[in-house]
Order: sequence, then C-alpha cells, then structure tokens
Amino acid sequence: MNALAATSRNFKNAARILGLDAKIETSLLIPFREIKVECTIPKDDGSLVSYVGFRVQHDNARGPMKGGIRYHPEVDPDEVNALAQLMTWKTAVVDIPYGGAKGGIGCTPRDLSLSELERLTRVFAQKIHDLIGTHTDVPAPDMGTNAQTMAWMLDEYSKFHGHSPAVVTGKPIDLGGSLGREAATGRGVVFATEALLAEYGKSCKGLTFVIQGFGNVGSWAARLIRERGGKVIAVSDITGAVKNPNGLDIDELIKHKESTGSLLNFNGADNMDPNEVLIHECDVLIPSALGGVLNRENASSVRAKFIVEAANHPTDPEADEILSKKGVIILPDIYANAGGVTVSYFEWVQNIQGFMWDEEKVNNELQRYMTQAFHNIKNMCKTYDCNLRMGAFTLGVNRVARATNLRGYEA
Ligand code: GLU
Repeated sequence: MNALAATSRNFKNAARILGLDAKIETSLLIPFREIKVECTIPKDDGSLVSYVGFRVQHDNARGPMKGGIRYHPEVDPDEVNALAQLMTWKTAVVDIPYGGAKGGIGCTPRDLSLSELERLTRVFAQKIHDLIGTHTDVPAPDMGTNAQTMAWMLDEYSKFHGHSPAVVTGKPIDLGGSLGREAATGRGVVFATEALLAEYGKSCKGLTFVIQGFGNVGSWAARLIRERGGKVIAVSDITGAVKNPNGLDIDELIKHKESTGSLLNFNGADNMDPNEVLIHECDVLIPSALGGVLNRENASSVRAKFIVEAANHPTDPEADEILSKKGVIILPDIYANAGGVTVSYFEWVQNIQGFMWDEEKVNNELQRYMTQAFHNIKNMCKTYDCNLRMGAFTLGVNRVARATNLRGYEA
C-alpha cells in the first residue's frame, strides 16, 4: 500500500476511536503547505543535471513545523507527504512543541561527489529559505543527509537572513549541534525497547535481536543493545546481510563496514540472504531502513515476538493485521524512532538559550521523554482498548486536535 494511504488510514482509525469531528479530521489530513522546486546544478564534469526537491509542511498547531530532509531515489510527493504527517503525530506523541514537516530530493547521494552534494543542498536552500525559519519550519537530517548537509543549509540560509543556528538541527557540534544528536534516534529506539520489554518483565540482556538497516539508526541501536547485554544475531543493509547465532561484535562490524564498504565477509559471522533477515527467528526485530518492508508477502513468515519500528512506516496496514493476529507486539514508528527529533528539540532549545548541555543531560532528558511517552501511550491503550499503534496515534492526534480547536478557525 502506498505510504500516504497507509499513514492516512492509521490517522483515520485514530480519529474514529477519538470520535473526532469530521471537519477537524479533514483539516488535519490536508497539509498546511506543499513546496516543489527545481534544483539544477552543474556536475563536476560541467554537464547540467536537474532534480526535484520537496518540502511538505503538514501542521503547525502545536509549534514550528519540524522534520528531516531525505536524499533518496524513492523520494516522491506522496512519500514526503506521508512522512510529514507522521512527523506531526510523532512530535505530539513525545510532547515537544512542534508540528510536522518533511523534505527531500529524488536523487542517489552515493552517485554524487561531495561538491555536487554541496551545490545541490545550496540550490535547494536558496529555493526554500523564505519558507523555513527558527519559528516556522526547522529541517534536520534524514536518510541520505547528515550534519554536513545541515551545515551547508545553515550557511546558505544565513546569507539571506543572518546567522540563525536554530533554523536547522542535527548540525555539526562546531556549528551549534547538540552532543548526543548523532546517536539520538538509535538511543531513543533502545529506550523505547526497554520501556516495552519492562512491561513483560524483560530487559535487553539475553534477548536476541535482528536489525534490518545498518545506517545511522540501525548501527547505533545495535551498538547500544550489545552494551546492554542483548545479542544482535543478524543485521543487513543494501550491501548484504550477516548472522551469528551467538551475537555479532557490533563495534568490529562497524569497523569492517567502514574499511570494506560492505557488511559481507565479516570475520566472526556468516553471510546470509538479505531476504531472510526480516523472517529470521529472534525475540526483537528492528526494521531501521525504508518504509513498507513488512507487507502481506512476508508478514506471515515473521518469527519475531516484538517488532520495534526504528524506520518510518516499515509495516504496511495489511502486514499490521497479519502480525497482530499472530500475536506479535509492534512498537510503532511515531514513538519508537522519536528520539532523533526529541534531541533536535534539545538542540533548538540550546541554540535559542545560547547555553550548551553536556551529553549526560541530553541522554537523561531523552530517556525521560521516551519513558513518559510510553506510559502515556499505554494509558491511551487502556482507555480505548487498542494496540500500541493506535495508542500512539490517538495520543498524538488528540493533542494536535486539541491545539487546533483552541486556536480556532476564524479567518
Ligand atoms: N529525520 C528524523 C525523523 O524522521 C529527525 C527529524 C528531526 O530531527 O527534525 O524523525
């Protein structure tokens, strides 16, 4: 199912459970603003190439719109729309004072040189600089972008508006980035997993984990799980997959990937078929890459007891139904991967205050926000007798609907 249809379906279910007024439901579905811009740059060889860039600003009832910028060949308007909507519910679930937005450029960043990426980012920033801002819309990294991308965006934005560090988050530390931001999404995934496991009298220690996707989020989650005594028995990324039933040495695997460019042929593991990873037997499966990877084709073969959605919308609604019938417990994306945007909020607060926190404070606050959000989701599950996904959606949608009503509709 298309990402936007899947996200809207979850939203509509939550709206029905909450008994939302139909007019509010419609207004919450339609994005506040959709931006589409041409980004033409000269390649290093002098030839011209054109890309299309998007920024969807979904909702600002609770505060400035917030969300990442993705560089990936699958970026298209529907996908960006779905991801922007998810950001609105995500920021509300963890109760940070933001709305939701998302952006992206349909490109393959691996095929671009560093200077081509810089030119592309600067052209994109030139096209959208009037529509973003510290108190309107605050971009951040996402798939295919990183702290360097944010440094270029900040620099380009500042040429038009003066130095404004809080206009983007996920910046390099030297430009006002927050300690702990790089690891934050993965760390948040682990705090969320611990909160869930505690409900079942369990912890990471001794449990088996499979991680699909070994980029920033997956690799940080893997490292922190291992630190806590969890066994990461299989991981995959676009280069392939490896397994070891006794647990992979994640620090060594990261070094191996850095030096060879691939997960494959790691000393201390066997190569495996990447298609087997999602259906590998384990206690906790953590999809940490693209959306829609769990679908009606593979859902019935999943052998995990818990799924923690570190990626955005990895489970499509058909798979959701199949998995819940099988009794698999799913911790939904709008909560599980909210650690990144939560520490983005801390970065923004530090920039506005002009006061830097130490890493311990960042991590402790992150844990506090993630744990509190889990308890709030559980309360919604009890109130409405629903699963964790609907618990999170009703929590987020209710907060946004309340803010919208309080602000009113007078033109
Ligand atoms: N791209 C991340 C997400 O999807 C972080 C967004 C942010 O920090 O604004 O949640």
